[in-house]
Amino acid sequence: MEKMKKILNERNCLKLVCGAGNENIKEVEKLAYVYSRAGFNMIDVCAKKDVVNAAKSGILKAGTENETAICVSVGLCDDIHVSKAVINGQKCTMCGKCASICAQNAIFNEDEKYSVDERKCIGCLKCVQSCDSGSIIVEHKYKQPYTMLLPLISEGIDCVEFHCSSEDEEMILDSWNKIKSIYNGLLSICIDRSKMGDEKIISLLKKMIGDRDDVIIQADGNPMTGGIDDYKSTLQTVAFAELINRSRLPVFVILSGGTNSKSSQLAKECSVNAAGVALGSYARKIVKNYIDSDVFWENEKAQKTAIQIAENLAQSIKTYL
Ligand code: SF4
Ligand code: SF4
Repeated sequence: MEKMKKILNERNCLKLVCGAGNENIKEVEKLAYVYSRAGFNMIDVCAKKDVVNAAKSGILKAGTENETAICVSVGLCDDIHVSKAVINGQKCTMCGKCASICAQNAIFNEDEKYSVDERKCIGCLKCVQSCDSGSIIVEHKYKQPYTMLLPLISEGIDCVEFHCSSEDEEMILDSWNKIKSIYNGLLSICIDRSKMGDEKIISLLKKMIGDRDDVIIQADGNPMTGGIDDYKSTLQTVAFAELINRSRLPVFVILSGGTNSKSSQLAKECSVNAAGVALGSYARKIVKNYIDSDVFWENEKAQKTAIQIAENLAQSIKTYL
């Protein structure tokens, strides 16, 4: 915890988000390896033991176990961290659009039927939006966050991140307080701003933070929209971070949701202070060709190229933090 607090105080936090609910352990291991080798100091994974172990394995392979922290994300019942797409075969017209659009390669055609590989699905909803026949629904596979965290905490994690997209303050506080009762390490909060007004969200954050001065607020602009490397997708993120800056809460602000190589530059130009940047969709996209390879671990050249791409991203972020 002290190590991460130092990194946050130095405004030097680079976090790789492996994907909300991404249970593809082969992909998580490779992402953790590439991005920790590239200088990212936090790897964010979902709250599943084999996924956490895959991230730890990638970090060990990179030899950065003393520098890279593991953050485990949990979500309340309506959050994307607990969402998975499901295809209704009765309605599906077999057009294949969903399979083409899914960046996680989670949709496959087998025996003349499209299905979703639940372990790969990160609940981004892009397939739902692409399906003209309305054949895809989203199922929430919800388990109480503290239940999922209990076995992970005993094995060693460095941060717990709490996500919610609800307006139900009582439910949020109840779940948050249960997490605080079982975990006394670094905590991060990621609340969907679109569901609440600014006043309500700041009031809720004050209640959640209490008298702590070491909580991370992840200013999630527009989750899973950072695929295009421009300023536009980061606008909401910077606006949210500015709101938190203005509220003078004693927290570390991390930019997230629509982040890319330009996010820290935009924040700087807007005089918004951030302790770091969390990158998900964009970071995964730029190394995807290498990570998807079945022979990644045998191919040193592919590894080096992926690490170089990730290092370039790290450098462009660090320049403006
Ligand atoms: S986009 Fe919809 S209709 Fe087309 S293959 Fe996918 S589920 Fe079926
Ligand atoms: S596009 Fe659909 S199947 Fe693919 S990750 Fe997103 S929600 Fe899951």
